[in-house]
Order: sequence, then structure tokens, then C-alpha cells
Amino acid sequence: MQKNLPSVAYFSMEYGLDSSFKTYAGGLGILAGDYMKGAKDNNMPIVGIGLKWKQGYTDQHIDADGTPIDCYKNQSYDFLEDTGVKVTVRIRQRNVTCKVWKIDKFGNAPIYMLDTDLPENEDTWITGQLYGWFGEERIAQEMVLGIGGVRALRKLGINIDVYHFNEGHAVLAAVELIREKMDAGMDFQKALEETRKEVVFTTHTPIREGNESHTIDRLEYMGAFNGLTTEQMVYLGGAPFNMTVAALRTSRKSNAVAQLHAETANKMWEQVEYAGPIIGITNAIHKPTWVDQRMLDSVDTPETLWKTHMENKRALIDFVKERNGVQLDADVLLIGFSRRAAPYKRSNFIFTDEKVIGPLLEQKKLQIVFSGKAHPLDDTGKRIVSTLVKMSKQYPEAVVFLENYDMTIGRMLTRGSDIWLNNPRRPLEASGTSGMKAAMNGVLNFSVLDGWWPEACQHGINGWQIGDGFESSDTAKLDENDIKSLYKVLQEEIIPTYYTNNKRWVEMMQQSIKTTSEQFAVERMLKEYYEMLYMG
Ligand SMILES: *Cc1c(COP(=O)(O)O)cnc(C)c1O
Repeated sequence: MQKNLPSVAYFSMEYGLDSSFKTYAGGLGILAGDYMKGAKDNNMPIVGIGLKWKQGYTDQHIDADGTPIDCYKNQSYDFLEDTGVKVTVRIRQRNVTCKVWKIDKFGNAPIYMLDTDLPENEDTWITGQLYGWFGEERIAQEMVLGIGGVRALRKLGINIDVYHFNEGHAVLAAVELIREKMDAGMDFQKALEETRKEVVFTTHTPIREGNESHTIDRLEYMGAFNGLTTEQMVYLGGAPFNMTVAALRTSRKSNAVAQLHAETANKMWEQVEYAGPIIGITNAIHKPTWVDQRMLDSVDTPETLWKTHMENKRALIDFVKERNGVQLDADVLLIGFSRRAAPYKRSNFIFTDEKVIGPLLEQKKLQIVFSGKAHPLDDTGKRIVSTLVKMSKQYPEAVVFLENYDMTIGRMLTRGSDIWLNNPRRPLEASGTSGMKAAMNGVLNFSVLDGWWPEACQHGINGWQIGDGFESSDTAKLDENDIKSLYKVLQEEIIPTYYTNNKRWVEMMQQSIKTTSEQFAVERMLKEYYEMLYMG
């Protein structure tokens, strides 16, 4: 480990380390996994705290009439190391034992995962399903992560200088840090002040409803006060208790996950008193996990670059054939799109005007591969998935929906597509690391200027933008602006370049790789975390 760097404990509900290890749902988990791998590669004194999910996140399949069906399966992992450590958290008047497992097999810095599925527990279910169930279960999970996590670090004997919460889920760790100090004789304000010196926080979602809150009563009977009073809890998180607000108040500094997101987050939370500042540290990716090294190596040899890209494209086409039985064409422009199905991400946006898009699909100018899950409790999201499935039936040779999006699909799509499409309603996309994976694989981004893309986009040089940065609270107006722009760029720039100017296309691939492969690599992010959050 590098000397003189502060030691960090990173708390996260999810870790996307590998497709085979079902401890992640989406972008937040992928970020956590890439961060832990970067920490390992660069010998940084970082450990992770998480939960060992019995079933993990949903497997989401599509039934015969196109409806997403959720399915949770028990997992068993033979690569977890038993630390021999157990800690106790008192939840809803019962002592819950949490066994601590260690995981470091995916080239990651060690992650300690707490597990309540033990014979001595009545509450074995707590670490059952990632983002399953409802409020009380979530609080119990967050108590294990936050309170149990700090206790695990103590019992493991790991000294920590900085506690880093990846999203507000972990904020009860701050309540535990405060309680420890109060038990040692400090008053609440002093304990809070001291705790703030050692806590930092990454905020993710710019959607207000996505920022979890709970009633004070419910937190109290779950035992989440952890020795604090009602007044003290309200002082931290308000009433109802908002996890993000509490995290902003218990941390010295927070970061948003892209520069534009920092602006949005500062506006969004400006009314929160005595919160630390929110700075922007743009997310990044772990290149060995996501990027084809051959693409990086051949960036200066256009022929090899194109040849390698075509190999990746054929690999994707074979993968689609195997999964869905559809034969796509390697000579036709291929657009990849994968996002969690949520209305603001507008997954079916490209189908807005079928008079425009229909002929392109039918005349084999364009093929599109979609993937993405809806949150298990989100019926609107599930309807979005169903419309995508419907489009794949309407254009069976040109539109594909790959069910059960995971890291394997993510990797295939961000290597083998020609274009990576992203069209959220600006400015609601926090960062969007899949676009970085694509960019470094020479897959050209075609995206709204949201999340990370404004920091990289040079229109017509390393990719394309949609919508000119237009914003409006009138969604009809915004949609109209963006779809016009999307169709125009697609028809007047992307399609002509692809079919008539391969030289130019490959130059753009080169630019895409060159302008992103350092700036959005996890090393830059880790450096900024250390300089601006942990030591700054
Ligand atoms: C990269 C990745 C994500 C995050 O991508 P976004 O751009 O934030 O949508 C989510 N899920 C999987 C499986 C990924 O590979």
C-alpha cells in the first residue's frame, strides 16, 4: 500500500465486480466495483463495506406477451473468505448477528460483506434481496450496512481515516460514528463536528423521488436512532428523514458524479442548512474490465482499429443470434442502447416518429440492440420495456431487445456497437459510465449533452451531441427539440458518414479513444477523490 495516504472505508449497497457475483443493480454498483478494482491496481489503502446478498438483484426475463417478469434465485459463492468476525446490530427490538465475509477475487481491494442469513438469526431475510421489498426492509438493510459496517471495521481492527458513503444508503454509519463518540463522553454537537471531519459522501440521483426518505416514527421503531434522540435525528435528516440530506450534513464534503451534475445537485440541495459543499468529481471506468486493450493499442493504426472493431461487432452479432435467434448484419450501422427503464431516460425515444425511423429499419440502413431492466416495483418502467419488446416484434430483423441486462451484456454492447445512443431528458442523467466504456472502445457516442458527455463531446469529431444543451421544464417542448435534433444528426451526419466515408468514421473512432481514455479512466477519479475529498 502507498504510504501516507489516508485509509478509506467505502460503504456501498452494491458492488458490480463480475456478472457471476450478483451484488449489483446498476450504475452506482458498477462505479463501486470499478473504484475497488482501481484501488487495488494502484495499491491504495481502501477497503469496501457492503452486504452479502442471498439473492442479489432481480433476474428479469420477458414472457411470451412481452412483459418483464422478475425472478430472484438463491446464490451460493465458494470464493468468499470467512473472516471469523461477527457483529451485532439491534433491529426492531431484536439482536441481529451479522457475519463478515471478505471478497477480493475480482482484482479488487478487499470488500467486507455483512450477512444476516445465519442459523442463530430470526431476521435472516435482511440481506436477502438488493432493492427488494419496501421501507422497513430497506431500513434494516441500511442499519446492517451502516451500523454493522462500522462495527465490523472495529472488530477487524482496521484503522480508518475517511468514511466514504456511496449514496445516502450508508448514512446510518454516521449515526454510529456519532454514537461512539457520545458514548465516550462527547455531547451531540461536538460528536457531529468530529464525525464530519472523517465522512465524505457521493450523491447520485438528480431525481428528487430517487432520494430515499423515511418517517421518523418508522426509523425509531426499527431502532435506527441507535441511541440518538428524536431531535438529534431530525437535526441530521429532517422529518421525514431524508437520507441524502443527512449524508450532506454529516459529511465534510460531498461530490456529484459529473460537472453538470454538481451544478444540478447544488441547486437541488441549496436549501439544506449546514450541509458541506458539493463538488464535481466525474465518474470513470476501470479500463481492464471494460475496454478491449487491442483497441487502445491500435489507436494509431486505422486499419487494425477498424478490423478489431469489426471483430467486436461480429462477436456482438453472434451473441445476439445465440440469445435471441436474430441474425443482424455486420454491414449495417448498429446502434446500442441500454439503460434502466425509467421515463426520463426515454428508452423508446428514437421511435417517436415511425415515418422517420421505420423506413431506416426496413431498408436496412439501421439496426438497434436494446437492453435494460426496470426496477422490480416500477410498473411504468416495465411498460417501457414492453414497448421496446413490441418494437422488436414489429421490426424483427432490425430491432432486438436483450433481456436481463448485466455486466456481460454491458460489455458486449459497449464493444460491438457502432454507435452508443443516450437520450435522457437533460439534466437528469447523473453521469453515465456506459458511454465512457463505448468511447474507449471506439464506439461513437451519440448523446444528449448530459452527465459526463459535455466534458468530452466534440461534435462531429469524437462523437455527436443531441439537442444543443436545450433545457425546459415543459417536457413536450424538450422532447420536440431533442427528437428533431436526433433525427437530423442521424440522417444528415451519422448515416452518410457511416456508409460513404469510412476513413472519416475511423478518424472519429481514433478521436473518441484518444480524448477519453485518460480523462475517464478510474485512476483520474481516484486521484481526484484523494486530492479533493479525502485530503482536501
Ligand atoms: C456500465 C453499466 C451501467 C452504468 O451505465 P449507465 O451509463 O449509467 O447507464 C449499468 N449497468 C451495467 C450492467 C453496466 O455495464
